[in-house]
Parts: sequence; C-alpha cells; structure tokens
Amino acid sequence: MRKIGEVRTQSPVYETEPWGDADQAAFLNAVVVLESSLRPFRLLRKLKRFELELGRLRTRRWGPRVIDLDILDWQGEPLSTSVLTIPHPLMEERGFVLRPLCDVDKEFKLPSGKTVFDILRTGSFDKQVQRVIENW
Ligand code: AMP
Repeated sequence: MRKIGEVRTQSPVYETEPWGDADQAAFLNAVVVLESSLRPFRLLRKLKRFELELGRLRTRRWGPRVIDLDILDWQGEPLSTSVLTIPHPLMEERGFVLRPLCDVDKEFKLPSGKTVFDILRTGSFDKQVQRVIENW
C-alpha cells in the first residue's frame, strides 16, 4: 500500500470463518485508509497487480487466496461500472468488512444510509470475526 500512497489508518487484523465456501481455512481481514493521487480505475489496476505479485492464483469462486485487495470506498463518490463498483456492493453483509471498517471510521455511511457503528451495534456479526493482531 505504501508504494501507492500514504496509509492514514489501519485496522487490527480479524480472523474470519470462510464465507461462501466453508471447506477451507479461516481468512484474515483488515481495512486501511489510503491517501493516494490515483483515481479509481488506476487504483484497481495497481491492486490487482499487487495481488499477482504476491502470488494470487485464480481458483474456485470464494476459494482460498493469498491476498484479495478490494476498494470499499473512494472519497465517498459512488461508481457503478462492469469492472468496478464503489461502494463495494457486498460490504454491508459482511462482518469481516464491517468490523475492521468500524475501527478506522465508525461513522462511515453504508449504502443503506446507516453508519457502520449502527449496524454492528446489533451484535449480529460478533460471532463471525475475532480480533487476532493489533498492530501489523
Ligand atoms: P476479486 O475476486 O475480489 O479479485 O474481484 C474480482 C473483480 O471484481 C475485480 O477484478 C474487479 O473488476 C471487480 N470489482 C468490482 N468492484 C470492485 C471493488 N470495489 N473493489 C475491487 N474489485 C472490484
């Protein structure tokens, strides 16, 4: 991340049970706030290149992966194209996104209009994620 901008905030790392395909090891998830001059499509291209450099191979959908870098938000500006959708369309359903997102910005407004803090307050995602690494 530091190759493409300034990391302003980073969440702790959470361990999460696999989602979509349960027959695999747990995942590690984190969120960073990155300040960068890159616009969304160039940012996406760089992130996908990093994934390849780090050894990501395309296996089955929702299967194990070395790394998966997603853009959750870009300056609060929505974008909807065939290659890039911002805010990330599934973020509101996933505890492994919401929990670390709340650590970096608890007032973050989700597409439904609720804040990430309000959604997590219900406790419905508590069992899905476990904080495992504070500083990395
Ligand atoms: P992934 O399986 O996470 O590597 O994502 C597969 C594809 O989803 C990417 O190659 C992008 O074209 C597309 N995509 C759409 N919206 C996003 C987003 N917000 N962040 C990252 N990838 C996205």
